[in-house]
Amino acid sequence: MRKDVRILLVGEPKVGKTSLIMSLVSEEFPTVVPYRAEEITIPADVTPERVPTHIVDYSEAEQTDEQLFQEISKANVICIVYSVNNKTSIEKVTSHWLPLINDNTDKDSRVPLILVGNKSDLVEHSSMETILPIMNRHSEIETCVECSAKNLKNISELFYYAQKAVLHPTGPLYCPEKKNMKLLCIKALTRIFKVSDLDNDGILNDNELNFFQRTSFNIPLESQALEDVKNVVRKNLSEGVRDNGLTLKGFLFLHTLFIQRGRHETTWTVLRRFGYDDDLELNQDYLFPPLKLPPDCTTELNHNAYLFLQSVFDKHDKDRDCALSPEEMKDLFDVFPYMPWGPDVHNTVCTNDQGWITYQGYLSQWTLTTYLDVQRCLEYMGYLGYSIVAEQESQAAGVTVTRDKKIDLQKKQTQRSVFRCNVFGDVGSGKSGFLQAFLGRNLMRQNTINEEQRSYYAISTTYVYGQEKYLLLHEVFPDFDYLSEDDLACDIVCLVYDASNPYSFEYCAKVFKQYFMDSKIPCMMIAAKSDLPEIKQIYGCSPLDFCRKHKMPPPQSFTCNTAAVPSKDIYTKLTTMAMYPHARLRCMCTCNRCTFCLCQNFLNSELLQTVRAKLYAVVLRRHVSKADLKSSTFWLRTSVGATVFAVLGFAMYRVLLKQR
Ligand code: GDP
Ligand code: MG
Repeated sequence: MRKDVRILLVGEPKVGKTSLIMSLVSEEFPTVVPYRAEEITIPADVTPERVPTHIVDYSEAEQTDEQLFQEISKANVICIVYSVNNKTSIEKVTSHWLPLINDNTDKDSRVPLILVGNKSDLVEHSSMETILPIMNRHSEIETCVECSAKNLKNISELFYYAQKAVLHPTGPLYCPEKKNMKLLCIKALTRIFKVSDLDNDGILNDNELNFFQRTSFNIPLESQALEDVKNVVRKNLSEGVRDNGLTLKGFLFLHTLFIQRGRHETTWTVLRRFGYDDDLELNQDYLFPPLKLPPDCTTELNHNAYLFLQSVFDKHDKDRDCALSPEEMKDLFDVFPYMPWGPDVHNTVCTNDQGWITYQGYLSQWTLTTYLDVQRCLEYMGYLGYSIVAEQESQAAGVTVTRDKKIDLQKKQTQRSVFRCNVFGDVGSGKSGFLQAFLGRNLMRQNTINEEQRSYYAISTTYVYGQEKYLLLHEVFPDFDYLSEDDLACDIVCLVYDASNPYSFEYCAKVFKQYFMDSKIPCMMIAAKSDLPEIKQIYGCSPLDFCRKHKMPPPQSFTCNTAAVPSKDIYTKLTTMAMYPHARLRCMCTCNRCTFCLCQNFLNSELLQTVRAKLYAVVLRRHVSKADLKSSTFWLRTSVGATVFAVLGFAMYRVLLKQR
């Protein structure tokens, strides 16, 4: 909304400009007036539209042309005053004032004008006959009004019209010459219609109309008023009402009617509520509400936002196949000024057999946008009308900013639900295959992907200890010299090498040593293409030894060259490691759900490692002292002990998990 309104009065001398201003202020006709009234400011709370309003007088006797031009360029609305009993003053409106104002204002931001016929107390007849043709010729003239400073007739109305002309201008909405709504206005109202049409059947039923009325005007519509509205539309437009609800045509017709009857403020209220500014563009304040994002924090959608997005999906998934066909997707993004998702999205998230984005994939893509570019997410949710439909303060209410990752690490627990895994590997090592397999695509399916539509991201869900989590895989371009901060910032690192290419491992070792050896980020080595015969890597040590040396889990064999959908186990494991980076996972099986895995995780935790080392030391000392003991029995006992320990450990683990 505007901060204030500046009204300028111009016109020939003695038409009564100063008197009009003084009559408004003192509510009586002044007998003696100066040439020019001082600029007055009416405080917001006493003006009808609740905006501070400045009223500025002009006097030829006291001001130069230069000063007049300056005032004209500063004004938000200009009242051209004439005297109804003075023909010359009327002629001067067209011969002098209109051209002069046109020359001194921007063509693009035309100031609205109001024609004011003063001294109506002196004549019986109206000046409208002369004025209306002028109005028709000049679309910048918003309205005209006859008044009398002496009788105080139409004085407050005049200033109200002036205020309204600024706050609710006709210009952007309506073309008076063609007598129809302007294109931008139709576009904006169409979006509003679509957002309000909650079930997407192309009709605003009573419920939706009520919801619309409540959100726009903060008051519900009486049922009689609702019927009246529909009847007016029905009478004028045969297709305006269908199945007892308002069609888009009817909705647009209704607003045209409002505007034609001088009730622009109704249309403007609706437009502003849905985020539009005076140029009928969506407001920056609406699209980008403030959101504080401290460093080391990530952004996620909260439950409320997911519910909203789910409802948006449901209303567009007309055939209920839980996927968006190209038409359904186009319809969904119809309220956007552009198509937000490129063809690469199909290779970023899960799709169905037809290659259509599934419900799961749709939510994943939103999660990805929120994580990578929260401003974009706010913008998109703004187009969908999140704050209005979900009745929230702004889109920012749908976003959770997670706590600083350093605190998570310190407390060894996290509330986050999205984890980022950056995938490194030399050219051709199988990174893309690794990403695509997460979306359930085997090699055969991957070979159908168009190179131009490939994506460097893949996101989907995994279940970690029964909780659904998002894992975001990012394939890092293998150019060693150009690793940006973004390439390095993640929750877990994947180092992929081609097990069938002897030169492939070196890159992984290099990246690890240069960037991750001293960082706290957990790393996982992936031996890709395990369906091919393994070839010894040409490097100082074997990948297994390398992993041991650097306290990493052993290389995980991986292939996407499967007959069926590739297994998700490795991704679950990665997510688990991302969630619990402090727990060293050494389990050879990658399911992370079996008792063995859980025990392994627990037994490998640091605390237990030290306890176990001490225990072994004690056991060892005792046994060594008994020289007669055979080494085989010693090892048997130790392994029995370890098993008992593992079972106990698992029980303790469960207890710990429950506490969490
Ligand atoms: P300005 O030069 O345009 O500012 O005009 P003024 O306000 O100085 O008014 C010029 C003369 O017209 C004064 O004598 C006023 O008393 C008189 N006047 C102003 N408004 C009215 C009105 O509404 N009716 C009548 N009868 N006289 C008016
Ligand atoms: Mg004057």
